[in-house]
Amino acid sequence: MQHRIIVLGAGYAGAIAAGRLARRLRREDVAITLVNAEPDFVERVRMHQLAVGQDLRPRPFSEMFAGTGVELRIAKVTGVDVDGRTVAVVDANGAEELAYDTLVYALGSGWNSQGVPGSAEHAYEIAGRPGALRLRERLARLGAGQSVVVVGGGLTGLEAAAEIAEARPDLDVALAVRGELGGHFSPRGREHLRKVFGRLKITVHEHAVVTGVEAERVTTADGRGIPAAVTVWTTGFAVHPIAAATGLKVTGTGQIVVDETMRSVSHPEVYAVGDAAMAAGPGNKPLRMSCASGGPTAWQAADAIAARLTGGRLPNTPIRYVNQCVSLGRWEGLIQYVTADDRAVRAVLTGRLAAVYKELVCRGAVWSVANPTLGLPVRRRRVTRERAVAVGS
Ligand SMILES: Cc1cc2nc3c(=O)[nH]c(=O)nc-3n(C[C@H](O)[C@H](O)[C@H](O)COP(=O)(O)OP(=O)(O)OC[C@H]3O[C@@H](n4cnc5c(N)ncnc54)[C@H](O)[C@@H]3O)c2cc1C
Repeated sequence: MQHRIIVLGAGYAGAIAAGRLARRLRREDVAITLVNAEPDFVERVRMHQLAVGQDLRPRPFSEMFAGTGVELRIAKVTGVDVDGRTVAVVDANGAEELAYDTLVYALGSGWNSQGVPGSAEHAYEIAGRPGALRLRERLARLGAGQSVVVVGGGLTGLEAAAEIAEARPDLDVALAVRGELGGHFSPRGREHLRKVFGRLKITVHEHAVVTGVEAERVTTADGRGIPAAVTVWTTGFAVHPIAAATGLKVTGTGQIVVDETMRSVSHPEVYAVGDAAMAAGPGNKPLRMSCASGGPTAWQAADAIAARLTGGRLPNTPIRYVNQCVSLGRWEGLIQYVTADDRAVRAVLTGRLAAVYKELVCRGAVWSVANPTLGLPVRRRRVTRERAVAVGS
């Protein structure tokens, strides 16, 4: 009997986990199924590029996973029954239940309106492809001089504001940030950001807590009204509500709580990776929702599952950060080097070199999906029957 592993979600984390498992375990011993709503890989880190009209290279999963032994199931996940160990999916042919022995949950995240009045009705978002395409269509219809306000001073907001301002210098682009612009960067990082935003003529509203979004403006807690023909909402990500509905132990925000091997602390046959997981990183701080965390959590989970099924050693490589990479349009960037627990240090890389560096990081992220052992030799191990039973029991 094959051990049935189902991976839910084929973003950076799920796709890497599925591919790595297929390269760690013998094909005759396991059936690995990768479930994803869409038939092609979406480079979420490029959604601001898609929104301003750039075309992204199509990456069909059928090509990415050809010959790996991973079975692709293009369907929408609607629920997980952790007691019955089944996943409910629906596709054009109707609803079905898939049974698993081991589950890897990697459904990622979407935008987070944070319940701010008017945001759900009036704001645009770029957390996923449908949102980015909607914004793309709206930006294309904006005339010269019209205003765009990006809300949120995190990495996504900075990238979105810069990309829009560079692609559409005829628009009046503004950024509303809760604190100081680039407050989490080093002084050199902040200075560079100000210089580039100045060059791109982006108006920065600092200490602006947006409390309302209307059709033509946003309002702030201190009574400001900022004109906005288009509001782009980038104040963090929210995980899919499916996890919270499963009975798995989750945080208040719905992320699945996992141990250092990415295994659910409440259900040992379930693993969670990427944005959907709440894992502790260096200094016991929660990992940041990012590709920078998603890849390593997927390696960790896949190697732990393989070790538990084959009697190998559990992985114990700590997940550490090196830098935060920010594109500021196509020609500028900011690479902020950080400590292992993600705090800015003095060193930064800026300018054209930083833009090239960031581009290589984005390409590297896709490469690592297609090469989940990072080019190291594939070593498939035999699953022992006793262990497969023990892991599944
Ligand atoms: C504009 C933008 C820029 C970013 N820039 C960076 C950056 O520079 N560096 C960085 O580290 N991070 C960046 N991020 C964050 C990064 O993209 C995410 O943290 C990362 O994609 C999370 O990976 P994941 O695999 O957990 O989830 P996702 O990439 O969200 O993948 C989840 C997958 O699950 C599928 N799915 C979801 N729900 C269902 C369902 N019900 N049924 C079936 N399938 C489903 C989705 O289609 C998707 O394929 C950026 C994000 C955005 C939006």
